[in-house]
Amino acid sequence: MDNEVQRGFETLAIHAGQEPDPATGAVVPPIYQVSTYKQDGIGGLRGGYEYSRSANPTRTALEVCLAETEGGARGLAFASGLAAEDALLRTVCRPGSHVIVPNDAYGGTYRLFAKVAQPWGVEFDPVPLGDIAAVRAAVRPETKIIWVETPTNPLLGVADIAALAAVARDAGALLAVDNTFASPYLQRPLELGADVVVHSTTKYIGGHSDVVGGALIAADADLGERLAFHQNAMGAVAGPFDAWLTLRGIKTLGVRMDRHCANAERVVDLLTRHPSVRQVLYPGLPDHPGHEIAAKQMKAFGGMVSFRMESEEAAVRVCERTKLFTLGESLGGVESLIEHPGRMTHASAAGSPLEVPADLVRLSVGIEDAADLLRDLEQALT
Ligand SMILES: *Cc1c(COP(=O)(O)O)cnc(C)c1O
Repeated sequence: MDNEVQRGFETLAIHAGQEPDPATGAVVPPIYQVSTYKQDGIGGLRGGYEYSRSANPTRTALEVCLAETEGGARGLAFASGLAAEDALLRTVCRPGSHVIVPNDAYGGTYRLFAKVAQPWGVEFDPVPLGDIAAVRAAVRPETKIIWVETPTNPLLGVADIAALAAVARDAGALLAVDNTFASPYLQRPLELGADVVVHSTTKYIGGHSDVVGGALIAADADLGERLAFHQNAMGAVAGPFDAWLTLRGIKTLGVRMDRHCANAERVVDLLTRHPSVRQVLYPGLPDHPGHEIAAKQMKAFGGMVSFRMESEEAAVRVCERTKLFTLGESLGGVESLIEHPGRMTHASAAGSPLEVPADLVRLSVGIEDAADLLRDLEQALT
């Protein structure tokens, strides 16, 4: 790609790392379903490839595309979002290190810190990231990472990335931002001062509920190199077919996100006016506590919507009555999903500081015809 020209997001998503194949002219990077590569004499590598754990051309195409769409120096693709998180943790922390995590982090992230990192000797504190003074107060000399998720899952809390980047800088810690809910189309944390972005590419980037994957994007090449060392040493890499599916997804991320956001706004409008809905949680609502920050750091407010009913029973009933919204975990695909976090995605958080309200319903608003989505919710709520 011509580095002289500044390219827009959608152009990068379609072209970065994906020049037509020099051997055949194939317009899309082929699935290099291969483990090893012929060497022309010992060490004579033809394209820098020797073994597909270390590097694979399809994965490289995805990694370059991820780096450019997030505006980072290096992208790395993993077998899942949690594999990416684990590689970051092992690269930056040692026994005795300390990490600050959001008090409403994704449940799997919390489990990684509580059940894997802590037994290894890494201490962590769940802190409300909306409270910058509380984050500052939680910093210790051993703090290595301030871990940010914004918006959060499932309560759609919003954290001020630029303000937290300043806290991390003063603390000599890295600012890591899980950008899964926003995607790089809506929010670019590295431009706001973050050091590394984390993704579950399973969600919006893949976008079609057909692949599990994760990614790390480092702002600078040095951190990128250290993360790449761990990616290879620990080995939880994205396979070639998974990398290819993820690349196929990212090409349409911009147009999909536009529709996810537009449909979510229609859904929010219906829910806020519905008598049986007690509260709607969406950063696009002016009365959302993080609305101003979200408006400042996001291009639009995303496709995730949560709402509270009058009781747990009412919440469960809605989840079981939709016909178009599919009852299921995960999010970010073209199809609309509904779930009850308390009994499903966040059941493991019961009794922890991350327990979610029992009357909560979470929607991943898809890109179907909005009128059909509204009709479905209307009948399920009645
Ligand atoms: C799903 C998710 C993860 C974990 O990713 P996997 O691909 O399921 O391992 C991490 N963070 C957030 C915000 C998620 O939604």
